[in-house]
Amino acid sequence: MTSSPARVRFAPSPTGHLHLGGARTALYNYLLARKTGGKFILRIEDTDQKRFVPGAEQEFMDGLRWLGLHYDEGPDIGGPYGPYRQTERREIYQRHAWQLVEQGHAYPCFCTPERLEQMRSLQMQNKETLHYDGTCRNLPPEEAARRVANGERHVIRFKTPQEGATTAHDLLRGDITIENKNIDDYVILKSDGWPTYHLAAMVDDHLMNITHVFRGSEWLGTFPLHVNILRAFGWQEPTWIHLSIFLKPSGKGKMSKRETAEAMKDGYSIFTKDMGSLGYTPEGVNNWVALMGWGISEGDDVMSLAEMVQKFDITRLTPSPAAINFTKLDHFNGEHIRRMAAPDLAARLKPYFTNAGLEVSDDLLLRVIPLIRERLVTLDDCLPFAAWFFRPQVVPDPKDLVAKNLTAAQSAQIAQRIYETLAPLPHITHDLAEPPMRQLVEELGYSPGQVFGILRVAVTGQSVSPPLFESMELLPREVILERVQQAVELLKNA
Ligand code: GLU
Repeated sequence: MTSSPARVRFAPSPTGHLHLGGARTALYNYLLARKTGGKFILRIEDTDQKRFVPGAEQEFMDGLRWLGLHYDEGPDIGGPYGPYRQTERREIYQRHAWQLVEQGHAYPCFCTPERLEQMRSLQMQNKETLHYDGTCRNLPPEEAARRVANGERHVIRFKTPQEGATTAHDLLRGDITIENKNIDDYVILKSDGWPTYHLAAMVDDHLMNITHVFRGSEWLGTFPLHVNILRAFGWQEPTWIHLSIFLKPSGKGKMSKRETAEAMKDGYSIFTKDMGSLGYTPEGVNNWVALMGWGISEGDDVMSLAEMVQKFDITRLTPSPAAINFTKLDHFNGEHIRRMAAPDLAARLKPYFTNAGLEVSDDLLLRVIPLIRERLVTLDDCLPFAAWFFRPQVVPDPKDLVAKNLTAAQSAQIAQRIYETLAPLPHITHDLAEPPMRQLVEELGYSPGQVFGILRVAVTGQSVSPPLFESMELLPREVILERVQQAVELLKNA
């Protein structure tokens, strides 16, 4: 594992939402930077005007902050290698494209879109793989320079060597060798003067002193081209790490739009922006995402960001595809909820209650937490379990008050006996209330489920709740007695 400070970058294109794949790339960058005492950089690759989505850049920045993946350099905070938005670096790319032309590694190409179209249909007819046929590759440099000076529309193409082969090395996959005749003369500068990814990313990675490139495996196809561009400039190569792809939950095929919509219906999402409102914690999401492609033994795998930094090891990343498993997200989220200090958890749960229109006493919330914490999978699970604690009144549905296999009249009698059992107690605590209630169950000859069920619904308004006696302990004695009395009345009138 490298120990010299890494300079790494997350380089999203602002063309959509921050999703799991991006979050994972950002996370691995962050972990390596923190592990080595290096720097984590955010670079916005926004040169593709056609695919630009307003607001996307902000969403990426907000998403990284929500995840706690704080970057050291970026468009909104600056840094010594800026600007960090590619649209602000246009001249830099043009200068470098022309440098390659001058050195014989690239050439202006004047072929019109119509000509290229004809060329492609011919290649298709002949069942050839589509490639640029090299028409402008061999123009005399003076002629090319004259046509450019005359303002003729052109792109710049990289002059891929025609002989031999290119070997590129990926940390997870080893050497990848492609014969040069199979690598196209890709466009590196478009006719509108904007660079393509192939040029812009290589130039920036070099100028920003990037030591490791984590990126999606969709770039493996053009990987040899990228390596050739760096070599043409005579620049040092970073360590390349092409990450595994994500498969849909079934493991069959890549995640699709349809699959994403299905996940939303089940209360899941692949977009960071949705995670908070679905009740997921940044800790849970980071942990989940980290392990899609990082081999770590079970039992050792619940990790805070700081623990991940400690354990992170790029040689343990795997290139095998990872199926998205939302059950694991739930698992990690619950684990992290259980690890949180009560005041921290309280602060995170409070907004769910207040957004539901409830007034929350901080003191009561802190005392509720030990009763519900074990059951929370997502933060918003606090509502079904515990919203009733903060309601000034609960009015149960009389149907719920009727105990199993009993009539309303029988249930009313039981409720009345419960009232008589609890009323004499100075406090309704677990210790004081449970023994006489158990005795009542014996006397009545009904099951504990029937008797306690009535009490539970009477006090909480619902048939599922945190442990009953512990919950009652948090409420004033009079409130409980009032609610039991109310239950008696509701049952009598049922
Ligand atoms: N802008 C590229 C993308 O979003 C970045 C790839 C890379 O990290 O080099 O796919």
